[in-house]
Amino acid sequence: MATAKTNLLDLSRRDLEAFFVALGEKPFRATQLMKWLYHERITDFAAMTNLSKVLRERLTERAEIRLPEVVLDRASQDGSHKWLIRLDSGNCIETVFIPEPDRGTLCVSSQIGCPLDCSFCATAQQGFNRNLTVAEIVGQVWLASRSLGDVRNGNRIITNIVLMGMGEPLLNFDNAVKATDLMQDDLGFGISKRRVTLSTAGVVPALYRLREVSEVSLAVSLHAPDDALRDELVPLNRKYPIAELLAACKHYIADKPHRRITWEYVLLDGVNDSEQHARALAALLENIPSKVNLIPFNPFPGTRYRRSEPATIARFQAVLTARGLTAITRKTRGDDIAAACGQLAGQVQARGRRLERLAQLAS
Ligand code: SAH
Repeated sequence: MATAKTNLLDLSRRDLEAFFVALGEKPFRATQLMKWLYHERITDFAAMTNLSKVLRERLTERAEIRLPEVVLDRASQDGSHKWLIRLDSGNCIETVFIPEPDRGTLCVSSQIGCPLDCSFCATAQQGFNRNLTVAEIVGQVWLASRSLGDVRNGNRIITNIVLMGMGEPLLNFDNAVKATDLMQDDLGFGISKRRVTLSTAGVVPALYRLREVSEVSLAVSLHAPDDALRDELVPLNRKYPIAELLAACKHYIADKPHRRITWEYVLLDGVNDSEQHARALAALLENIPSKVNLIPFNPFPGTRYRRSEPATIARFQAVLTARGLTAITRKTRGDDIAAACGQLAGQVQARGRRLERLAQLAS
């Protein structure tokens, strides 16, 4: 029986070295291959001319470079971009690019759907199917960078990457870590270390592990300053309450002088947007190097929430700033193509395990 081919996009630099050693080759073949794959964006082994003909033939037999398929590529009037990417049997995920004057941020997904069920998020309504593979996570970067005509030397178009699309990256720990390593690796996408950010709803034990194995920047979806409210908005809080989450975040940046935590806080009209909430939030973050991203809620069909009034958002931000916190209000981008935060829907063949999983998480 023919054995399945190894998709080289699934392999970290170290995995790739081991792969070549197993073929009886020297580990530096990994360097050559990664340059073709990530710098030149060549996926055809036959074109990798600094590998011997025999090795190219063996690669063709044993390996492949298989990318997911872009089924829709939409540009917004404001320059944002959204790709709908098909993975398998009807499952699609979304990847978004957001250009700003000083940076270009690519927002990638880590799971098909999401098991966390946050009450204000469109992805939650889709249910959960499965974790993405490393190839599917880095494949999003590869495809977006080709589509945008990104350059490696000279001006880059993608300068920042956030794991802030569909899914909870820390519930797909190993693949998220390998994928972010490839984003930061000079032989991979070569994005500067602190410009690769993993966003989490707060899987506390995974945060302790992450510090040991990764150098990604951390964004944490907080959304509420007290447990009662956060339990309602982010059900994962029932398992890992705020005090435990903050302790894990402090530990994550301890002894890293220039690092801080980015806190995401989606503003929901009449729910979490009062001045009291802002004061409580400021008190909570008092001793943690922090930046707060205030995100005006983006509505989606069927939601019970509304976006806070601009004046309420401005007041909330002013309370934080007056207490010495760096707080910015994120501009809503890509509205016209449903590419804004929390609007990523894709097409998820939910497996009906979400409630079960949630029961496990909450137990
Ligand atoms: N599971 C991870 C990664 C998903 S990113 C996490 O929770 O961090 C999710 C981010 O999208 C949240 O922090 C939130 O800021 C944003 N978001 C989700 N739904 C939203 C909505 N309807 N409007 C605005 N932002 C939303």
